[in-house]
Amino acid sequence: MSTWGERVNPVVRDMPPSGIRKFFDLAAEMTGVISLGVGEPDFVTPWRIREACIYSLEKGYTMYTSNQGLKELRDEIARYLNQAFQLRYDPHGEILITVGVSEALDLALRALVAPGDEVLIPEPTYVSYIPCTVLAGGVPVPLPTRMEDNFRINAGQVEKAVTPQSKVLLLAYPNNPTGAVLPRTELENIAAVAKAHDLVVISDEIYAQLTYEGEHVSIARLPGMRDRTIVLQGFSKAFAMTGWRLGYAAGNKAFIDAMNKIHQYTMLCAPITAQTAALEALKNGLKEMRQMVGQYNHRRRLVMNAFREMDLPCSEPGGAFYAFPRITDTGLSSEEFSERLLFEEKVAVVPGTAFGPSGEGFIRCSYAASVSNLVEALKRMTGFVKRVRLKKKASRPLPADRDREAVPHKG
Ligand code: PLP
Repeated sequence: MSTWGERVNPVVRDMPPSGIRKFFDLAAEMTGVISLGVGEPDFVTPWRIREACIYSLEKGYTMYTSNQGLKELRDEIARYLNQAFQLRYDPHGEILITVGVSEALDLALRALVAPGDEVLIPEPTYVSYIPCTVLAGGVPVPLPTRMEDNFRINAGQVEKAVTPQSKVLLLAYPNNPTGAVLPRTELENIAAVAKAHDLVVISDEIYAQLTYEGEHVSIARLPGMRDRTIVLQGFSKAFAMTGWRLGYAAGNKAFIDAMNKIHQYTMLCAPITAQTAALEALKNGLKEMRQMVGQYNHRRRLVMNAFREMDLPCSEPGGAFYAFPRITDTGLSSEEFSERLLFEEKVAVVPGTAFGPSGEGFIRCSYAASVSNLVEALKRMTGFVKRVRLKKKASRPLPADRDREAVPHKG
């Protein structure tokens, strides 16, 4: 007779747990830990948004909404996407409100991918892209990016990876975990490849508002790309609403209808309380959102300065709230560095390998932590890096020692 574990679908059984969660769980068991681990704003959702939700409950808004989500919210999303990103979508059929970008991503992959279809995924990659692709029956094709290129994917790499099975290109800029952004010219080159090979682009733009220099350009805005792109957006990061679980997808009606088919049988609709709060966020919460983004930008500089002082090379993050410094010269692997930093200094970061093999030699530090916590964590990290480097130096035989060893003993 098979064990209970053996009855689990082998696709799920063989799936590794998220590398982020592992460190989060370890840190949660310790006291005095400063976490730069989880990608979560330290801000509480702005009061006006919480208040709108409380008021909606007082009014008795506790029911299901339509599968696509509240019409008023879809209207507001359509207006917002147009104003902020020059993206035009019909709220009747081209926008689907979901339980976070997480659900939107899962729906998009399941709606598009047939067994054996290949999904091209720049790496280091957000932890859920590969597992969700596999669960959808697809074949993930990682496209490694390098610090030397600021972790930007380029059109040549995409072109090279395309096969007759390629169906989807999954883009995520600003990027988690590297903070990379893609300039418009590179997006145009990539768009040309997508069109030439008839790829559909899933563009996870959850960090779009957290772009620190210049404006965020969605690939969907480029000529000929709107209908072959599904844009994913949400409220978790920009509005500090991770726990509300609200996101949305915008795209061609055929894709959104297909996603809604799965959504209606699995989720039914996103919670009405979260939808009411999101409506307030878009109508009246943009000022608070911009203030938070300003704070992240300040923290970004603080973190980059600290890495410069530690002499840890780090590609300038143009967006999101992550820095991804290289730690190879400490002589430690990403896992060793992260584990020792946690146990010796009580600072939690995520090893780069949690985001794929090309993350080896890097750690991800989230700077969505308070300034005082950041300052303390960076101080502890500075001491740790110094100590590790000194030890590494001391354990290396000095040239003089080697010479002495080479001289035969006399007497
Ligand atoms: N996409 C990216 C790139 C993320 O970093 C995250 C969360 O960290 C998500 C999606 C999930 O977002 P949500 O909270 O809207 O499900």
